Amino acid sequence: MTDPLTLQQLEAIEHDHVLPTYARLPVAIRAGAGSWLETVDGRRVLDLLCGLGVTSLGHCHPAVTKAIRDQADVLVHTGNLLHLEGPVRLAQRLATSSLGGGVFFANSGAEANEAAIKLARRHKRGGEILTVHRGFHGRTYGALSATPQEAKQEPFAPLVPGFRAVPATAEAVAGAIHDGTAAVLLETIQGESGVLPLDPELLRAARAACDEHGALLILDEVQTGVGRTGALWSHQAGDVVPDAMTVAKALANGLPIGALVTGPHLYDAFQPGDHGSTFAGGPVAAAAAHAVLDVVTGEGFLDRVHAAGARFRAGLEAIDGVASVRGRGLMLAAELEPDVVERHGSSAALATSLIVDQGVWLNAPSPTALRLLPPLTISDAEIDEGVARIAAGIAG
Ligand SMILES: *Cc1c(COP(=O)(O)O)cnc(C)c1O
Repeated sequence: MTDPLTLQQLEAIEHDHVLPTYARLPVAIRAGAGSWLETVDGRRVLDLLCGLGVTSLGHCHPAVTKAIRDQADVLVHTGNLLHLEGPVRLAQRLATSSLGGGVFFANSGAEANEAAIKLARRHKRGGEILTVHRGFHGRTYGALSATPQEAKQEPFAPLVPGFRAVPATAEAVAGAIHDGTAAVLLETIQGESGVLPLDPELLRAARAACDEHGALLILDEVQTGVGRTGALWSHQAGDVVPDAMTVAKALANGLPIGALVTGPHLYDAFQPGDHGSTFAGGPVAAAAAHAVLDVVTGEGFLDRVHAAGARFRAGLEAIDGVASVRGRGLMLAAELEPDVVERHGSSAALATSLIVDQGVWLNAPSPTALRLLPPLTISDAEIDEGVARIAAGIAG
């Protein structure tokens, strides 16, 4: 085997040929196993971000790798015009574990939300889509129009019409829902904006107002789903049942997949020809997702997520320079003391020094916070190691 390209060689090629949409960190990876990544120069990095909440069972989980390999030997693609057992059974599993209706498969979170937005408009024959400030639903035009963040939207105007955003309070949301509202699209915990849990009262108020005005409540579980918060689907820890939810990120532990899952009353909202996707619902991604669900729904797995989350939270809270910790399960953010932010310049600069100097990967969803989406399979020893490395980086 030839030597892998060095970081500098990679940066040079990328500079010429990769469109600069990502501010990449100065680290090049060649492999991963469990909670660890390996850099091209042979360093080990403790991965507390999982590619933004995707490789939730760790890198190259043996059961997922085996499922992908076995399926790749048999069949990789047919498209959606023929019957396939794996994806159909996956739909059955997603629906019966949550809302009990039907599933539309997509390839990403944004695409799952596009499907949800189309479903809502089809159901109401038009109508407004309501979101809340700091929500994030993806980068395609419909999903971006549902992402009320100036920096993300403004350069790409005009957006899709018929979207409206209000402050994330129960009063604002309830007051904004009317007979012309097609749907309210919400995250239970706003991930990209910094792990900001929505007030349960907001969810209840949205549910009640949606029922009153014939609007759909759609929960975006793209980041919170598949066990991340300690429940299989995060809304199951509360008392609000949505009409539909979207999932993606961790569902196939790294293969592209997304899904819109509806309640039974929406089973007929789409008709043949209304929506589609060439790659979506393929058998390899479905096989990976089955393997993921086997693990996450296994005996005691979600209890372990709670225990690991509690240990991580306690460890972070004890770090000198951490003001507070928020989140649920293994979806956490640490708010930094102002002097720590000032000393490092920003939480993003601190996150860069954490991966470069301390070999621990997490990110900065706001200028003052660090976000952790560690593997759900992380061990106690790895949690303690992560806390120690973060503490060393903050102190440094
Ligand atoms: C990541 C994310 C998306 C977008 O998913 P992509 O797969 O990047 O399109 C949508 N909603 C939420 C809540 C997310 O965290």
